[in-house]
Amino acid sequence: MTTNTLNDIEIIKAPTSKIDSVDFQNLAFGNVFTDHMLVCDYKDGQWEKPVIKPYAPFLMDPSAKVFHYGQAIFEGMKAYKDVNDDIWLFRPDQNFERFNKSAVRMAMPEVPEFVFMEGLKELIRLEKDWVQKGLGNSLYLRPFMIATGTGVIAAPSQEYRFMIILSPAKSYYSGEVKVIIAEHFSRAANGGIGAAKAAGNYSAQFYPTKLANEKGYQQIIWTDDATHTKLEEAGTMNVFFRINDTLFTAPTSERILDGITRKSVIDLVNKENIALEVRTVLVDELVEAAKNGSLKEIFGAGTAAVINPIVGFSYKDEYYELPKLEKPMALKIKQKLTNIQNKLEEDVFGWTVKI
Ligand SMILES: *Cc1c(COP(=O)(O)O)cnc(C)c1O
Repeated sequence: MTTNTLNDIEIIKAPTSKIDSVDFQNLAFGNVFTDHMLVCDYKDGQWEKPVIKPYAPFLMDPSAKVFHYGQAIFEGMKAYKDVNDDIWLFRPDQNFERFNKSAVRMAMPEVPEFVFMEGLKELIRLEKDWVQKGLGNSLYLRPFMIATGTGVIAAPSQEYRFMIILSPAKSYYSGEVKVIIAEHFSRAANGGIGAAKAAGNYSAQFYPTKLANEKGYQQIIWTDDATHTKLEEAGTMNVFFRINDTLFTAPTSERILDGITRKSVIDLVNKENIALEVRTVLVDELVEAAKNGSLKEIFGAGTAAVINPIVGFSYKDEYYELPKLEKPMALKIKQKLTNIQNKLEEDVFGWTVKI
């Protein structure tokens, strides 16, 4: 950690805004970025002064370690605007904590709280017009860190760049999601980096997901790498199963990312007196429940989509369709959670933070 105390952010404003050229009604997820970005470099064992400046590409040395050894981590968060034009974050302390856990696992320096939190807030204040009102609208926040130090020696970089970029988002609808249960590939292993939000965890998923797409499935439900018998995550989301009227989700582990949506769903469900068990769910149990009709729902939980219902799954070349319910629990939970995030319902948990 640094010895100098960071308490100041330099701001260089963009001369013009591109906001008028953006069609907020037809936004594809994560394609449009706001006018400014935050940059904070780490050199000589210290974090330098953070700077907010116009969003733009930047030069890097071809031997920068991020290109060769994948030292890169990120976070995904959202900001919401309420009816009074106040802007709110959802549990940002959790993202900050997780970011630095990921940093430690990837042998990267921890980012000071001031740089992450005040940097984020200052940047959002500057881009407040990019946060659109109304349920479903948000500003997606992407803090990330890359190894910028040069040299192809396989060792941790001595230099890093922390950045935050922002992208306006509409509610995320991914169409009908069918999943395939992993029988061979894995996204994470014990002792690996599955619990860190490391860039490499995502690239490792691309090839198996591409194969699943070719078979007509949008996502993969990951199983444990050793036996492929335990259900762990759905794509890049945590996963919940409803058997009769009880929800199930796996406990977090070295292979499962500790999702903030997941833990918020658990707290919400407990408050609503919906039965929930945090325990290992076996593939065999799921297949059995699908066969006897007790399997009612499967849904993913993560910041981008909040809750993503799954319509069916394939296992050992057999497809199991889920029932179409009149009042799915997934929808009820999603409404509760998005109401809290958008300040449409009282936040009894103290999760929302005003900017
Ligand atoms: C980011 C992520 C999640 C969801 O985490 P949230 O904090 O809820 O957004 C779940 N699984 C994986 C693998 C992830 O990378």
